[in-house]
Amino acid sequence: MPAKRVRLLMMNAALGPLDYRVPDGVEVNAGAVVVVPLGPRQVLGIVWEEDRLPAERIDDSRLRPLIGVCDVPPIKAELRRLIEWCADYYCAPMASVARMVIASSAALRGAATMTEYRLTGGMPERMTAKREQALAALEGEQASLRELAGMADVSEAVLRGLVNQGALEPVAVDCDRPYPQARADYAVPELSPQQAEVAARLVAATSGGGFAPFLLDGVTGSGKTETYCEAIASALEHGKQVLVLLPEIALTEAFLRRFEERFGAAPVQWHSSLKATERRRAWRAIAAGTAQVVVGARSALFLPYARLGLIVVDEAHEISFKQDDGVRYNARDVAVMRARFERIPVVLASATPALESLAMADSGVYERLVLPSRFGGAQLPDIQLVDLTEEPPERGEWIAPPLRRALFQRLEKGEQSLLFLNRRGYAPLTLCRDCGHRLQCPNCSAWMVEHRFSARLACHHCGHEMPPPKACPECGAADSLVPCGPGVERIADEVAKILPDARVTVATSDTLNSPERAAQFVAEAEHGAIDVIVGTQLVTKGFHFPELTLVGVIDADLGLEGGDLRAAERTYQQIAQVAGRAGRGAKPGEVLIQTRHPDAPVIAALAAGDRDAFYAAETEARRHAHAPPFGRWAAIIVSSEDEAEARMAANRIGDTRPRLPDLQIYGPAPAPLALLRGRYRFRLLVNARRSAQLQQTIRKWLSEVQHPPGVRVGIDIDPYNFV
Ligand code: ADP
Ligand code: ZN
Repeated sequence: MPAKRVRLLMMNAALGPLDYRVPDGVEVNAGAVVVVPLGPRQVLGIVWEEDRLPAERIDDSRLRPLIGVCDVPPIKAELRRLIEWCADYYCAPMASVARMVIASSAALRGAATMTEYRLTGGMPERMTAKREQALAALEGEQASLRELAGMADVSEAVLRGLVNQGALEPVAVDCDRPYPQARADYAVPELSPQQAEVAARLVAATSGGGFAPFLLDGVTGSGKTETYCEAIASALEHGKQVLVLLPEIALTEAFLRRFEERFGAAPVQWHSSLKATERRRAWRAIAAGTAQVVVGARSALFLPYARLGLIVVDEAHEISFKQDDGVRYNARDVAVMRARFERIPVVLASATPALESLAMADSGVYERLVLPSRFGGAQLPDIQLVDLTEEPPERGEWIAPPLRRALFQRLEKGEQSLLFLNRRGYAPLTLCRDCGHRLQCPNCSAWMVEHRFSARLACHHCGHEMPPPKACPECGAADSLVPCGPGVERIADEVAKILPDARVTVATSDTLNSPERAAQFVAEAEHGAIDVIVGTQLVTKGFHFPELTLVGVIDADLGLEGGDLRAAERTYQQIAQVAGRAGRGAKPGEVLIQTRHPDAPVIAALAAGDRDAFYAAETEARRHAHAPPFGRWAAIIVSSEDEAEARMAANRIGDTRPRLPDLQIYGPAPAPLALLRGRYRFRLLVNARRSAQLQQTIRKWLSEVQHPPGVRVGIDIDPYNFV
């Protein structure tokens, strides 16, 4: 009798599919996650359909037996198809995609308990400063010793001392204890007629099942969240799971609270800063089907939901859904594919949809649901341009007189203002007044950005940091280094000068770098403890601050520079979104946009509030350039630590380019970020007509070129950043 065998997708990108023998008495089904021997090691694989993973068929006698089957439900066929699709579409190894599915190695180990520690209320016999510090910091906390040590900023040895003294006690915790259950009928809002109509469509699609992609196109403050929550309620009633993707962790906190108010329990979170134990718990609950609603960053898309019934992508136009390293995928697009494989509805919600999404709605592929006005009669804000060529700010300042006056008025009335500038830190460039030397990152072709709060210079590309030098490193002149241009910290300084009594807060990924800090910021802003918020793109979306009535855009022209294929669209979206923060409560909002180019089409469309005009003009520009959605782009990035080696590799690729009528290939050329993290980068761009076999062509082309081991070749399908 032939041996029972299985073919595995190996969880290691360097390996092809491999066959193993199933020992007698062991039951394995397609999708099972198994442990197998590989040489002297043990590795993970997923049982795949044999006909979908071609491999050389080796003799039964040479098959090694698998070691064990992990105690997790098999990866379902729908998800296996998604793994295959992603690998194929994004030209990535299947193993790399599968690793995003098996996102917690601890989860594979089966049921478990863990030991956490908490204060007993007892005091140690001998008190030390460190012990006192720990006791004060750990009030009400329960976590592993390592995590507690981090929270209290003491060593684990200090905590072990406290355990010995009886001041800390161990608690056995079930790693997979169930999450609190959300209730569909906990606090049902009364919807406006407009909202009710949209909600009814979403509820019908959710309860009926079947693939149904929606574009929920509603102005800022129209209540998109309230509306799709009705579809979530319907999924809960039917025992189906829901995934809500948010673009930023900073937004999660506000969402969690709203969700809890609506459904009586918080959803399950998934993002990169989860502790390993939380990851494991979430993963197992998702796979078991007991996690009802998961809210997360893009990586939550690949988790093995047992009974997925609905996917929502909120702020679906956001570019943070695009992953730029590892598997370069766009979570918005993968969400639609996942919904297709799972045969469920997917909702892309946005006030400023991507042109690609609008085109899908126009062609009838997506069903478009519109919320044209704000909830509760709130008006969209009044938008005015400030022409910086006519009313410039003082020398060395960035807030022009009209915006200054408006800031004054808000403070007098006790209302809130938000100034938007998409630049972290104090100044984007530091320059020597004597010799003109500019402080540059040693690893990247980028300037070092001054951060005054932390008294560092930092590279925003590789994270390299240094203390600000006292003298110019080039000519040695003392005190000659001067900041050039503004970042949010510098704008905050300027506000403090104009309005000495105002409470000013800088809101960026530097200052809101944890869920706790984001929550604190939201609470302060909501309770009127902040007069002026100075923020980056982080504050452009999601937030709802009723007292915020003025939005000032410091430099609307900034986004139009640089290597972004969708620069105009991005500028439009960012400014329309940040404008959408103004006047969401009872008081009307005002938006002042500072620009040097008031006649640029995107700026004029913003001022006129004419979204359709902007999209129409942008559509024509894209059609002309064969850009998405009319054609497609792919970027090929060749890099090496050795510049000559990278250039030669790029040239070899360039020299063997396929010559096809429906494919244009540009380059190779040095990438705009020619040096990144110590690697020299060259780039080719492929522009394909819709008829072209883009991925297939690129895969074949690149597989035929050999490179030295130091060369890396990355493929970015549907790229956003051309840097
Ligand atoms: P959007 O996501 O479209 O910008 P939100 O969903 O944040 O809008 O809604 C804006 C504000 O209006 C929120 O404070 C929300 O709670 C409130 N809101 C919207 N719809 C309703 C409703 N039907 N009943 C009560 N409050 C609502
Ligand atoms: Zn750098």
